[in-house]
Amino acid sequence: MSLAPSPEDTVAPSRWHAMASRVLAGAAIDREEARAILESSDAELLELLAAAWRVRQRHFGNSVQLFFLMNAKSGLCPEDCGYCSQSKVSEAEIPRYNLLSAPKLLDAARLAAERQSKTFCIVISARGPSEREIDFVCSIVPQIKQRYDLNVCACLGLLSPEQARRLAEAGVDKVNHNLNTSERFYSEVCSTHTYADRVATLEACRSAGLQLCSGGIMGMGETHDDLIDMALELRAMNVESIPLNFLNSIDGTPLEGTNRISPRDCLRALAMMRMVNPAAELRIAGGREIHLGSLQPLGLYAANSLFVGDYLTTKGQLPEADYRMIEEMGFVITRGSEAAEPPVLPG
Ligand code: SF4
Repeated sequence: MSLAPSPEDTVAPSRWHAMASRVLAGAAIDREEARAILESSDAELLELLAAAWRVRQRHFGNSVQLFFLMNAKSGLCPEDCGYCSQSKVSEAEIPRYNLLSAPKLLDAARLAAERQSKTFCIVISARGPSEREIDFVCSIVPQIKQRYDLNVCACLGLLSPEQARRLAEAGVDKVNHNLNTSERFYSEVCSTHTYADRVATLEACRSAGLQLCSGGIMGMGETHDDLIDMALELRAMNVESIPLNFLNSIDGTPLEGTNRISPRDCLRALAMMRMVNPAAELRIAGGREIHLGSLQPLGLYAANSLFVGDYLTTKGQLPEADYRMIEEMGFVITRGSEAAEPPVLPG
């Protein structure tokens, strides 16, 4: 029997590695290339992830950075974002409470540090913060940073330039305000504020000297072009940190029962986001346990960051399961920007 390779066995040079090489050389991939990633076949998925890994490795080695979310005020939000269990139109059964006390926030920051988080995210459900809420965040952030080695990210809704300036002065490192989707699709998921409002908040934060954390949610009924629009806009705004969520269609929200997305589509979206935003911190965010399932580890070949613990109103995977996944991948949790040594991949 001949052991000579058949024509089918011959490996064609991967278009994804060619793309990664161009990205690593400083090229920016265009809309058509981003679409090609999202439309690629399952048979190409490992090659695609290996190519995305080369880009991730250049900027982050085999490091994984953990973020810890604290919902400092839950529910009671006057906005109508269709994906959100905390909106005024949501009938989801969630805890509803007003601003937490300072001791509770400090205790949460301690837990974040114990869980090896790089960043402590203070979130409130609101269209935007009240004067009292801004005062509170500005008073608690210096205390958190004095006690714990944590970056602080504030997610407080729409911000004015003055509010952004106050947060920067208080020592907030970064503001999270997600674009969530494309400008075209935005009005399908929210009617009480606009995409332009969100962009204006990000611009105010940038002008105040804050780093930007902004990403989106996949699986709300958007098209590939909507996802690509968002990725390109995040690149245009030089966003430093990108959380990519996968819709957890919570019962009682307008998007309840929205169709599942396949784990392979989640991986293609992560790879696309990495290729479009090569140097950005890319986080596999909410819904990863539901939609990526057993393929979660593969997502870390494109992304370099995870939320550890629970999400705003839903449970996450146990931290121990994340630590084990990271270790079994040969990755290392880092709390700074240092990149650990990359593992050797086959092939
Ligand atoms: S503004 Fe924020 S908290 Fe309020 S409904 Fe929208 S996503 Fe939820």
